[in-house]
Amino acid sequence: MTATNAVLSPIFFVGAGPGDPDLLTLKGRRLLDNADLVVYAGSLVNPALLNGIRAECHDSAGLDLAAIMALMIPACRAGKKVVRLHTGDPAMYGAIREQMQWLDRENLPYEVVPGVSSAFAAAASLRRELTVPEQTQTVILTRQAGRTPVPEREALSKLAAIGASMCIFLSVGMMEEVVADLLAGGYVPDTAVAVVEKASWPDERIVQGTLADIAARVQAAGIRKTAMIVVGPALDDASEAVSRLYAEDFSHGCR
Ligand code: SAH
Repeated sequence: MTATNAVLSPIFFVGAGPGDPDLLTLKGRRLLDNADLVVYAGSLVNPALLNGIRAECHDSAGLDLAAIMALMIPACRAGKKVVRLHTGDPAMYGAIREQMQWLDRENLPYEVVPGVSSAFAAAASLRRELTVPEQTQTVILTRQAGRTPVPEREALSKLAAIGASMCIFLSVGMMEEVVADLLAGGYVPDTAVAVVEKASWPDERIVQGTLADIAARVQAAGIRKTAMIVVGPALDDASEAVSRLYAEDFSHGCR
């Protein structure tokens, strides 16, 4: 049945956050509570987010794009409230682009609701500010090339040469390559590196070390997926730099 005269409810792409159900936005919570259909990325989304909701829920883990769209499109056309739940923030490795392009072709409405990315959940777990005055004011969110290629101009070694904070997604299974590329880019072997597995989940684990030993430590810990690699001057405890923002000579109007 098509809800012809009614205005269709947009399909909401919602960021589920990194794992802790309390790290979902209030908007995301409200949308989930009112949804008729939820299609969630079961490999990383915490199923606790779905507890008690009335929606029909489908795990997209075993579904291809066409199958996902075949669930969502008829529901949307029938006037149902559809939520597509992605881990972290949907803008990072969410594969929402192809879903949105498909909806554009079908002339169906959609909106995106941001979430807490695992990059920021990892920084929180590490109790780090990624932008450190006089050391780095830039954060690079990236990945090691794997089955999904990365353009050559964005090779990890080239990005490492910038010396900014880096949050490296989807790469802990290639730790040796990551380390080799970071060293090739100019980081010295005693550069601090942290790996946060399942940030914000009850079974979160943090492994810290240097470029010289992090690969062995990660292997010893048996961490192979769902982990964020954080590297850069922000992890350097030696930094005594105090934020210019709160220096006495800085105009208070900018605080
Ligand atoms: N959109 C997501 C990323 C999806 S890609 C986000 O914004 O976080 C999946 C990768 O994200 C994983 O390989 C891992 O590198 C990272 N990731 C997702 N959840 C994580 C978590 N709770 N802790 C650490 N890394 C996580």
